[in-house]
Amino acid sequence: MHLILFGPPGAGKGTQAKILSEKFNIPHISTGDMLREAVANQTELGKKAKAIMEAGQLVPDDIMIGIVRETLKSNKCKNGFILDGFPRTVEQAKALDDLFQEMNINDVVILDFNLDEEEIIKRVTNRRQCRNCGSLFNLLYDKIDNVCPVCGSIGTIYQRDDDKEEVIRKRISVYKQATLPVKNYYKSQNACFISIDGYGEIDQITNTILEKLEKIKVH
Ligand code: AMP
Repeated sequence: MHLILFGPPGAGKGTQAKILSEKFNIPHISTGDMLREAVANQTELGKKAKAIMEAGQLVPDDIMIGIVRETLKSNKCKNGFILDGFPRTVEQAKALDDLFQEMNINDVVILDFNLDEEEIIKRVTNRRQCRNCGSLFNLLYDKIDNVCPVCGSIGTIYQRDDDKEEVIRKRISVYKQATLPVKNYYKSQNACFISIDGYGEIDQITNTILEKLEKIKVH
């Protein structure tokens, strides 16, 4: 199975990607997580990406395309993948099409998550993550104190710098300008595009996704 999770920041892509990744036993490839790891490890990539991410801007296409090419061609993706956070520009979408052609992948399904701007801001500014295990939480729904409920680490729950209100507003405007055109690009290519309502409970959204995938018989 080859899935692309598309949609604005905070629409629930990461949460659903983790669930689907366990269910189908295929890797969750999040370009945002890869970049955050590079920043934390202070690699060359991390040094380049840090300021860009903190400003809510996009890391240049050539860098992102290189990372994704290498990852999707690696052994861990041989049985499929769930791509989250890529493509974010038409340039990236075109490079991904070329890669799929090269790899003979022709069963890609795009899940398009929809959520309105004020709901995104409310969700994202309440989002927290564990530095140790990467689990995501939301102060709107989860009771979180100093201990990660998933891995038990103490003092590792934090708010991403790019989840602060001024940055998320910038990220939404970058999304509208640079990423929304990708939707039209995919429609013009007659890609398999499934619309997902980002409102509602996590389980309910997962069930909707599974039903829609079942309908188009993706295995
Ligand atoms: P995310 O966790 O997917 O919201 O990504 C966090 C940040 O990483 C974004 O705001 C961008 O700065 C950067 N980033 C992630 N994926 C991409 C991408 N495909 N192209 C450019 N920048 C990206």
